[in-house]
Amino acid sequence: MQKNLSIRWHSRAGQGAITASNALAEILGNHGKFVQSFPDFGAEKRGAPVVVFNRIANQIIEDVSHPTKIDIAVLLDPSLVSSCEITTEKLLEGLENRGILLVNSGQKKLKMGVGAAKVFGIAASEIAVVEIGKDIPNVPILGALVRILELAKMESFATELKKYLSAHLPPEIVEGNLKAFKRGFEEIGEIEGSKNLPKKNYQNLPNWKEITKGGTIHKSGSSEKYKTGNWVRQTCEWQKKTCVNCNLCWPVCPHDAIQTDSKGNMIGVDSEKCTACGLCVVACPTKPKSLRIISKKSSEI
Ligand code: SF4
Ligand code: SF4
Repeated sequence: MQKNLSIRWHSRAGQGAITASNALAEILGNHGKFVQSFPDFGAEKRGAPVVVFNRIANQIIEDVSHPTKIDIAVLLDPSLVSSCEITTEKLLEGLENRGILLVNSGQKKLKMGVGAAKVFGIAASEIAVVEIGKDIPNVPILGALVRILELAKMESFATELKKYLSAHLPPEIVEGNLKAFKRGFEEIGEIEGSKNLPKKNYQNLPNWKEITKGGTIHKSGSSEKYKTGNWVRQTCEWQKKTCVNCNLCWPVCPHDAIQTDSKGNMIGVDSEKCTACGLCVVACPTKPKSLRIISKKSSEI
C-alpha cells in the first residue's frame, strides 16, 4: 500500500456517505490501518450536497487538513453534477491521471470521468431499493470501494460490517445491507468516460456553502428551487378522496413538497421535491389512506 491513500465522497445528505466513510474507517482501523474520516458540509438538510474524506495509511496520520491529492473520488449521486453546484472539475479535482472515479450508475457509458485514469460504476441505488427497500446507496457503493481498495477480503469485511451496522440498525435491515454490500462488491464494472458533460441547471443559485452559519431561514428558500427529490426512488402519494384538508402535513414537510392552492387547500405532492422522508405520513390523521410512501415508476426517476 502506498504511504497515504485519500478518498473523497460526493453525496447528498441522506445517502449515507458519512456512515459508509465511518464504517470504512472503523473496520480498516480494527485491521491495523490508520484511518481518518471527516465530512465537510454546511447547513445539513436531506438532499443537500455533502463531501466526506477518508485518509488511509499504515502509520499514524498527522496531517489533518483536507486532502488535495485524491486517489479515489466516489459519486453517490450523478445528478449532483447537473442539479447542484458540483462541477465535473470539482468532482475530479486533485485526482490527476492516477485517480479512480467510482460512480453510482449501472450504465456502461457515462458522460463524465474526464481526467480520471479509471471510471467504475455500480448500480448502487437499484441494489439498495431491492435489498433494503430504500434508495440509500452507501453500502453497495462501499462494497464496490472495498473491492477497488483490495485492503480486505469481502467476507471478512462483511463480518465486521455486520458488527458495525448491528450497533445502529435492526437485524432485518442489517441483513439487507449485507446483501447490498456483497452485490456492490461483486457487480462493480468499469465504464467509459466521455468529454460531454451534463449541463448545470442552477448555476446562479447560492449554494449551501454560502449560507450564513447560524442564520435564520425565513422561508423555504432553496427548497423552492432545488429538486431535492429527483434522486430518490420513492415518493409520497396523496389521495384526494380521503384527505380532510387539515393541512397538518404542510408544516412538517422539510422540502416544500406539499402543494396547496391560493386558499391553502391541499392539492398534491411534488415528487421532484419529495424525498420520501415520511414526516407528512406520520402527521396525517387519515394515514395511510391520504398519504403513503410508494416506489416511483422507472420512467419517473
Ligand atoms: S414524504 Fe412528505 S414530508 Fe417528506 S418530503 Fe415527501 S411530502 Fe415532504
Ligand atoms: S395531513 Fe393528511 S388529511 Fe391533512 S391535508 Fe395532509 S393529506 Fe390531507
